[in-house]
Amino acid sequence: MVDFNRKFGVLVIGGGNAALCAAISARRLGASTLVLEGAPKFYRGGNTRHTRNMRCAHDAATGILTGPYTEEEFWEDLLRVTGGQTDEELARMMISESKDILNWIVEQGVRWQPSLGGTLSLGRTNSFFLGGGRAMLNALYRTAEELGVEILYDAEVRDLNIADGMFLSASLKHNGEHKTVSASTLVAAAGGFEANIEWLKEYWGEAADNFLIRGTPYNRGSILKMLLAKGVQEIGDPTQCHAVAIDARAPKFDGGIITRHDSVVFGIVVNKNAQRFYDEGEDIWPKRYAIWGRLVAAQPGQIAYIIFDSSVVTSFMPTLFPPIAGASVAELAAKLELDPAALEKTVADFNAAVRPGTFDHTILDDCRTEGITPPKTHWARRIEKAPFLAYPVRPGITFTYLGTRVNREARMLMKDGKPSANMFAAGEIMAGNVLGKGYAAGIGMTIGSVFGRIAGREAAKNARN
Ligand SMILES: Cc1cc2nc3c(=O)[nH]c(=O)nc-3n(C[C@H](O)[C@H](O)[C@H](O)COP(=O)(O)OP(=O)(O)OC[C@H]3O[C@@H](n4cnc5c(N)ncnc54)[C@H](O)[C@@H]3O)c2cc1C
Repeated sequence: MVDFNRKFGVLVIGGGNAALCAAISARRLGASTLVLEGAPKFYRGGNTRHTRNMRCAHDAATGILTGPYTEEEFWEDLLRVTGGQTDEELARMMISESKDILNWIVEQGVRWQPSLGGTLSLGRTNSFFLGGGRAMLNALYRTAEELGVEILYDAEVRDLNIADGMFLSASLKHNGEHKTVSASTLVAAAGGFEANIEWLKEYWGEAADNFLIRGTPYNRGSILKMLLAKGVQEIGDPTQCHAVAIDARAPKFDGGIITRHDSVVFGIVVNKNAQRFYDEGEDIWPKRYAIWGRLVAAQPGQIAYIIFDSSVVTSFMPTLFPPIAGASVAELAAKLELDPAALEKTVADFNAAVRPGTFDHTILDDCRTEGITPPKTHWARRIEKAPFLAYPVRPGITFTYLGTRVNREARMLMKDGKPSANMFAAGEIMAGNVLGKGYAAGIGMTIGSVFGRIAGREAAKNARN
């Protein structure tokens, strides 16, 4: 049982990757460490439960990774996906530190496995967790417990006592009772606000009602909101988030990875007016898959349909939901409740615009359209082999980027620019420092691991003084 009369060295709020990396790192430096996880034990670990891999720089192939991925290449990838909207100093530091994380995380009990197949060609850049995110988390929890980190589940923090940029105590509700915990330092690792539809609506309006949340319902942004209200500097655009196209039949929360569709490059995408609206072949899938959530969010009714034919069915990883099928394009349209004539015309116009080429989804191939808007610049092949198939998709919000500003020590900065006396942040709650917009697969876990490890270390040092 947690002794609420005691003052802890480091209090960690959150129970995902960032929180556990911070807690382990603090405890390894001798700090008494308490983790408060808002979710019940079964649901511990926030969005981290759903993850599969992490992107780390490395100078040579490893037993798992097929080739080198230099710091410079990682930086260039980040620069491209964010369009330069990143804090260069922090991002470069994170990339440099990510090299060490490949081994450090193994020392904490996590095991790697080679890249999974499918359309995300990540074998060189990303290491996959053996057994997925849940196994990864279980390893971190086991290590934390063995080291003597105290962990309380069902412990949602409801208030923070902060005076002049200094954390004093946290109030929580546990087993129906209100408790207060004080600690010398705070690590906030409580995720973004993606599961808070009302907050999303402030920026997206009523459209947010049609968003599906891919991960935990517990990331409601309450800690982020409190910190910003108590003088912490904010970073990031509140409308920016990681959002992908997921099956419209997925549950409102926690549908996870099996609801994501990676089939966009193999077909065309139309809105509810049966019109195409974006180049489905713009870039290699792992670099561009995360734009489709936002694209669908901008369409009427926040719904779209990936249309393809039976010739490509085995080309991508299947999802939980079977495609909707029709013997003809018109029959498919009727099942999707789209105007059959409009969909027939869209498919016919697309087919007529396809130029001959050699298909290869692993490179920017020469299969493209000519004379239609928007074009499909790669991987364009005619949709003509019955049965015709479709997946209905909606925006699946993964995580938001609005966050707390931090420095190289993962220490929060206050609105006046001064570093907080004793508050640190890691993971989604500060992702906006690195991700102004855009995403490259596996960076979420890099942000959590690198800044979590640093936050724990610096919080432990701070607690000692
Ligand atoms: C389906 C899916 C697949 C993904 N796949 C990948 C992938 O393969 N690679 C990758 O890099 N990223 C992936 N991501 C993104 C990744 O999950 C996040 O970037 C990462 O897990 C964030 O870690 P975190 O510790 O900051 O947050 P989380 O793991 O979400 O943890 C936040 C924690 O805070 C707790 N919490 C919230 N509010 C409170 C409160 N008031 N009091 C106490 N506790 C609170 C929550 O319960 C939760 O435990 C994926 C996300 C999803 C949804």
